[in-house]
Amino acid sequence: MNVKLIGFTPYPEKIPAMAAKLTHSKSKPEELNKTAAKELKSILEHVMNLGHTSVIEHTSFTFAISDVSRSLTHQLVRHRIASYAQQSQRYVNIKEPNYVTPPKIATDKKMKKAYDETMNSIWKEYNRLLELGIPAEDARYILPNAACTNIIVTMNARSLLNFFELRCCQQAQWEIRQLANNMLKEVKKVAPTIFKNAGPICKSKKICPENKKDCPLYPK
Ligand SMILES: Cc1cc2nc3c(=O)[nH]c(=O)nc-3n(C[C@H](O)[C@H](O)[C@H](O)COP(=O)(O)OP(=O)(O)OC[C@H]3O[C@@H](n4cnc5c(N)ncnc54)[C@H](O)[C@@H]3O)c2cc1C
Repeated sequence: MNVKLIGFTPYPEKIPAMAAKLTHSKSKPEELNKTAAKELKSILEHVMNLGHTSVIEHTSFTFAISDVSRSLTHQLVRHRIASYAQQSQRYVNIKEPNYVTPPKIATDKKMKKAYDETMNSIWKEYNRLLELGIPAEDARYILPNAACTNIIVTMNARSLLNFFELRCCQQAQWEIRQLANNMLKEVKKVAPTIFKNAGPICKSKKICPENKKDCPLYPK
């Protein structure tokens, strides 16, 4: 899996802080630009602690994600407050087997062999269909959930907080959890105040909606 933060709104923390200050100020927006950095940081910390997170919708982040499975992207695109562009299996036919192997299969020699054989035979049939003149958009019906894909996603900071609460959680599947943790690591570098308490909901809100008392992260 490759995850790169390829873009974000300029002044990712200053603009939400100015937006927060604006709500309680007689000043015009452009005058708030002169506010001291220290004051803006403290305003942002305050609204984040209150959970008044609408102001952080002014900041968006764009990630380039590659070599993940279609299983993962199916889960990812359920997050509706986001924008996506995904490699098309209609227009791009990947003729060589290219798939993700779950760790529980990768670490078991016998299972890995059976898994690889299955994948190879799927791709063999896929290529056969293409050779018979079946269009890629129809031949792809036999490709597995494991097939690798590439996707670009843009989410605003508020939506990302929700995404991290759900997908950094131990209940989320390993692959999307790995993606969420990688994305969180990236955004923390450029927006540390916004994402200070970001992560699974047991970290951000100190609750466990699943009530999973056996989870190592269960809030004390
Ligand atoms: C561990 C786990 C297991 C899951 N298992 C399943 C499963 O078995 N089957 C399944 O179908 N899905 C499953 N999901 C997907 C889940 O139900 C959500 O679709 C997904 O996590 C996106 O979350 P979201 O709606 O909060 O995000 P977004 O779509 O980004 O929405 C963000 C927030 O905006 C608000 N919102 C967005 N759209 C609307 C709307 N139309 N009306 C009102 N409010 C809205 C909500 O407050 C929402 O939380 C699972 C998710 C997780 C984390």
